[in-house]
Amino acid sequence: MRKIKYIAVHCTATSQRTSISAIQSYWKNQLGWKMPGYHFIILPNGEVVQLLNVELVSNGVKGYNSNLINIAYIGGVNDKNEPIDNRTIEQKASILKLLKELKKQYKTAKIQGHRDFPKVNKACPSFDAKKEYENV
Ligand SMILES: [Zn+2]
Repeated sequence: MRKIKYIAVHCTATSQRTSISAIQSYWKNQLGWKMPGYHFIILPNGEVVQLLNVELVSNGVKGYNSNLINIAYIGGVNDKNEPIDNRTIEQKASILKLLKELKKQYKTAKIQGHRDFPKVNKACPSFDAKKEYENV
């Protein structure tokens, strides 16, 4: 089993209307990634879509991925591409449920936002995940 030290919370930094297939094609064609950026994506309607088995390594946080599970909600920026916490009620509920399930399996994993990792110069996930999920 992989040693999971962190569960990293992301936003996709796209419009909330962006499709998963568009995001996947960006990873593959623009970034040249063989693996997805996240293990799970949460749609605005609350649906959780798993893109990768948690035992495999995704591409969420450069330098840390071998010990990470990466999850992301679709959204996180406004029309001007500025960071905004625009999680829907459904997304908030699904993220919390998913985190609780993952914590059952990976009890020692710390939950934090992408921006809480060292030397990350991003607003992702556009809210304080470390604080919000400190008691999960
Ligand atoms: Zn991120």
